[in-house]
Amino acid sequence: MCGIVAYIGPREAYPVLMKGLHRLEYRGYDSAGICLLNGDIRVFKCKGKVSDLEAFVAGENISGNIGMAHTRWATHGEPNTINAHPHFSQNKTIALIHNGIIENYSVLRSELKNRGYTFTSETDTEVLVHLIEDIMTNEQVSVEEAVRIALNQVIGAYAIVILAKEFPNKIIAARKGSPMVIGIGKDEFFVASDATPLIEYTDNVVYLNDEEIAIIERDKELKIKTIRNQDQTPYIEKLVMSLNEIEKGGFDHFMLKEIYEQPRSIFDSMRGRLHLDQGTVTLGGISDYVQKILKAKRIIITACGTSWHAGLVGEYLIEDLARIPVEVEYSSEFRYRNPVLSEDDVVIAISQSGETADTLAAIDLAKSKGATVLGICNVVGSSIARATNAGVYTHAGPEIGVASTKAFTAQVAVLTLLGLLLAQKKGTLPASKFQKILVELDSIPSKVERILKLNEKIRDIATIYKDVKNSLYLGRGYNFPVALEGALKLKEISYIHAEGYPAAEMKHGPIALIDEFMPVVFIATRRGIYDKVITNIEEVKARKGKIIAIVTEGDESVKKLADHCIEIPDTEEMLIPLLATVPLQLLSYHIAVMRNCNVDQPRNLAKSVTVE
Ligand code: GLU
Repeated sequence: MCGIVAYIGPREAYPVLMKGLHRLEYRGYDSAGICLLNGDIRVFKCKGKVSDLEAFVAGENISGNIGMAHTRWATHGEPNTINAHPHFSQNKTIALIHNGIIENYSVLRSELKNRGYTFTSETDTEVLVHLIEDIMTNEQVSVEEAVRIALNQVIGAYAIVILAKEFPNKIIAARKGSPMVIGIGKDEFFVASDATPLIEYTDNVVYLNDEEIAIIERDKELKIKTIRNQDQTPYIEKLVMSLNEIEKGGFDHFMLKEIYEQPRSIFDSMRGRLHLDQGTVTLGGISDYVQKILKAKRIIITACGTSWHAGLVGEYLIEDLARIPVEVEYSSEFRYRNPVLSEDDVVIAISQSGETADTLAAIDLAKSKGATVLGICNVVGSSIARATNAGVYTHAGPEIGVASTKAFTAQVAVLTLLGLLLAQKKGTLPASKFQKILVELDSIPSKVERILKLNEKIRDIATIYKDVKNSLYLGRGYNFPVALEGALKLKEISYIHAEGYPAAEMKHGPIALIDEFMPVVFIATRRGIYDKVITNIEEVKARKGKIIAIVTEGDESVKKLADHCIEIPDTEEMLIPLLATVPLQLLSYHIAVMRNCNVDQPRNLAKSVTVE
């Protein structure tokens, strides 16, 4: 999940690389490093964040027009200076950065050790650079040929960049399974894990495909070949992303900015798809597959983390609206558990980044069994977008905060549109009901605006509970996935233990945890299984638990029981997740800020999980 960036051209490489690393820091932030070529080959690296690296290189010679840099999220070897990238070959003439995992590193490592190579780090990555040196020495081939031969020997995932002292005008980059984009400017090139580091310099980009190697030289055309030595013609695309989309815009944190962007991101995810005047829904990306979905024996939604929670909402929605059976699977389980799949199944893979390694593997498995695979992702041109038969983009804009917020609501908005589209085609909803839901869906962005006005009140509640050790989130029906997502948000950014449960399951275990120190967050909106949830609230109250409730505006019953109520606008039951999630995001955010946690870059986590 590391971030990588490289530059070659007339500019000083250092500022371009550092700015790029800051933009990519969401991908990993336990250590960072940089390599500059300027006659000699210099590597600086240290434990900590990109800002620590900046402090570390102060006073050093950082000049050079060619360089590469890395921000790490360790998979093999603890996050320390030695394990930070770049890694040097034994003769210190080749340096390499890597995002991914070399699965057969241990075999390669033993072989290389037997051939006299000394390893300085504990990473899987280091085998690659020694292997390249070994091939160059033994087979007397160029560095790019050695890279090609080496990549035929590795199993696993990689996005790598290589600089060699003998080639002061050349960058070699390659990928398989981890993302990589090349920016083409006037007389200059950029390489990065995503487009954010190159956005202010060029909008001409080439997304490298799996098993492709790019040979990038100043004053020359970009050359791409496969690891099987077939030349490829670079496919240059126009980048659609603006600079202010990836900056904080006056907010203290990206997470807060992204929470506040939700009226817009939900709207953008529905724009051109929800046609209120015509009473229809269209999803252009999957129009050729609608009949296939309608005839499917079942739909399997596969995803990880927050996207998995969106998938659960999707299950409720699609079964409810279109009466097609849906199962939701963790990609990491699905890919390894030999699931029964056939050509009659439609698999929907959900991922914000479109790079989630487990979800990509689940897609490969589903395709190999003949299932139709559709994607819902946010990053245009991402691996999942390309690996699936067709799909729908969420249009939430870049999400930089590691804890997903606007991507979740955008995914739910798209799944709602999908449920409605299928329902309309299948005729499972009366026209009047369909139109009513459409009108309500159209009003969701303005209702989210109203919820954001509760920010101060939610912050006050956060002040009271910021020091708790545990918490429970409970909801039923559509609010059960909301409870899961609320609990995940709290634990990932504030490090408070939080569990989400279906409210009625509480009495099968979690109720034992309740005492006067335990806050329980109920999503107790008026529609759906409201009366039963009130009973659950009573049960918590009887055991002196503290109750924070998300309720429908004007609610009286829960108010009598709860310690705190956050009132959200009323809407159709199936649309409540789009609203009820927002106050829970704000609650987690404020608690994390009050606990001095790094909200945008929580410990041990990284965005875009490109490793298993
Ligand atoms: N496996 C490499 C390491 O641990 C890269 C990690 C990653 O891409 O997340 O250093």
